[in-house]
Amino acid sequence: MSVNTIVRISDPARNGQQRTLSERVISFFTLPQVPLLVFLDDTVSMEIRDAIGPENRGLFIPTNERTFRDLQWPSYVAQEIRRVSGAYSFDFPFSGMVYVHGDVCDDQPALAMTLAHELRHSVQYITTQTTWAWNTVLMQCGDLICSEGLSWCDIPIEVEARLVAKRIHQDIFGVDETERI
Ligand SMILES: [Zn+2]
Repeated sequence: MSVNTIVRISDPARNGQQRTLSERVISFFTLPQVPLLVFLDDTVSMEIRDAIGPENRGLFIPTNERTFRDLQWPSYVAQEIRRVSGAYSFDFPFSGMVYVHGDVCDDQPALAMTLAHELRHSVQYITTQTTWAWNTVLMQCGDLICSEGLSWCDIPIEVEARLVAKRIHQDIFGVDETERI
């Protein structure tokens, strides 16, 4: 996977820290050969948290016309996801995007955990689309999950993403810091 990483924070030192850490996390993955956008924001996108939930740290999302159906992306993110190709048409240069909120990017251990987790979702999406699609359907049936006595972390793609992210996090920061996160 060819990864284009955008680190939005303007402070050079913090920008460098975030970029270096993101490159280290990305290096743990053998990624499919498709273009991926990683967007590390310098602020919290309230549009996204309002839609998904206040606890949301970040997300992976395939980038196409549907990317804008349910979520209102800040204009500076939207212009990276799609490029105007005609009067009423857009090109989507990436297969998907990993987005991380600014307050998470400010915390290096949290950034590593979130980025690793969402990168694993991007691999799931590219390599096992049928499984990913059915899990996504299940996650959108929130009432069904509750009625079955399940929670978000029981969903198979979530279980796997959390395990992968935890292993990478332990490798970078050590077991104690991973347990804190
Ligand atoms: Zn997840």
